[in-house]
Amino acid sequence: MGEIVVIGAGVMGSSVAYWLTERGHSVHIVENAYPGAGASGASFAWVNANAKSPGHYHDLNAAGMKAHRALADRLGTDRWIAGRGHLEIRTGQGAIGALADKVARLHARSYGAEILDRHAVGALVPELALPGDGELGAVFYPDEFWIDPTVYIATVLAHAVRSGARVTSGDRVARLVLSAPETVSGVELASGAVIGGDLVVNCTGAAVADLTGQLSWTIAMASTPGLLVYTRAAPTTLDTIVRFDGLEIRPDGGGRFLLHDHGVDGQLATEAQVAVLAQHLLDTARKRFPALANVGIESWRTPLRPLPGDGLPLVGRPGGASSYYVVATHSGVTLAPHLGALIASDIDGEDPEVLRPYRPDRLMTRT
Ligand SMILES: Cc1cc2nc3c(=O)[nH]c(=O)nc-3n(C[C@H](O)[C@H](O)[C@H](O)COP(=O)(O)OP(=O)(O)OC[C@H]3O[C@@H](n4cnc5c(N)ncnc54)[C@H](O)[C@@H]3O)c2cc1C
Repeated sequence: MGEIVVIGAGVMGSSVAYWLTERGHSVHIVENAYPGAGASGASFAWVNANAKSPGHYHDLNAAGMKAHRALADRLGTDRWIAGRGHLEIRTGQGAIGALADKVARLHARSYGAEILDRHAVGALVPELALPGDGELGAVFYPDEFWIDPTVYIATVLAHAVRSGARVTSGDRVARLVLSAPETVSGVELASGAVIGGDLVVNCTGAAVADLTGQLSWTIAMASTPGLLVYTRAAPTTLDTIVRFDGLEIRPDGGGRFLLHDHGVDGQLATEAQVAVLAQHLLDTARKRFPALANVGIESWRTPLRPLPGDGLPLVGRPGGASSYYVVATHSGVTLAPHLGALIASDIDGEDPEVLRPYRPDRLMTRT
């Protein structure tokens, strides 16, 4: 195969480009803004599989966790791995039983999960304010971790470039170049430049359907905004992810903390609401971590989460096309090193069986 054009330098496009160059392909990556400018650079970036279903999707994410470590060994650096461990706490009636069931399911898949009592929670995260009474369940997941996605992207892109890949940043792919109605032969950029390629891999995340529309395909995407709140530097020693009922909190470097809650994401509609919801997230976090009492919000971001319509990854050539390949997934930070390697092998015709549930035709319709 001649040149392969990869559109988008998020965690997915960068990983695909890396693994393609490792297989000897000539790759040109085109990025609208800068590597990491999309969802990847504004992600909670938690590498985990503890609540992923169905089973094949759990296994894909668990393989993603291992692939980060394997890639770190391969490259001789784990500089993108920012911290380790996850403590999940649930309160309310049935919390202990629900977590015990979850841990049993995870153990059946050999996933690391340890039930903790109140005393052990206090020893692990002394600064956490636990409710004095009522039911409380807690589980620690020692093998989960979080990353700096932009550092990951920079690292794999640097290796790809060392192997001959080219990167064009700050120029948007305006349209696909077609040599016949179904045959993509390259991309035309907003600057007017044309890059030819035998295969174009669309890794534009939540924008994946835009260019694909030119080929008379629609993709059923259900991408949703998320709210990430970054605190100012705080005087705490918390060094793990804590999920306390809905609230997720973790260190984010320089003493800052990152706050997220899926329930809050569901309430995002107008810009005015964002400020109110960000304050609500901080107020909730302060109840759990009194050390945040006088620490304010430094910033917030509302990235669009790439989400295929059924929540599962979308990976492959639509309609059996030979020259066009689409990639869109949630949990891309967890999946990237593993899924990127699978996609490169798929492009080489190896048709990995684990990709079968994620083929794009299930969510694509001809217009
Ligand atoms: C709030 C939030 C929290 C999340 N938390 C987690 C988590 O804890 N763990 C996890 O695993 N995942 C998480 N995710 C999901 C994860 O961040 C995404 O699945 C992942 O970042 C997707 O990567 P990507 O490379 O596919 O897309 P993106 O990172 O969006 O990259 C797409 C790139 O394509 C570029 N682009 C778009 N259109 C064009 C064009 N026409 N021409 C050229 N370039 C173009 C964009 O500039 C962008 O850089 C979260 C997402 C959100 C929003």
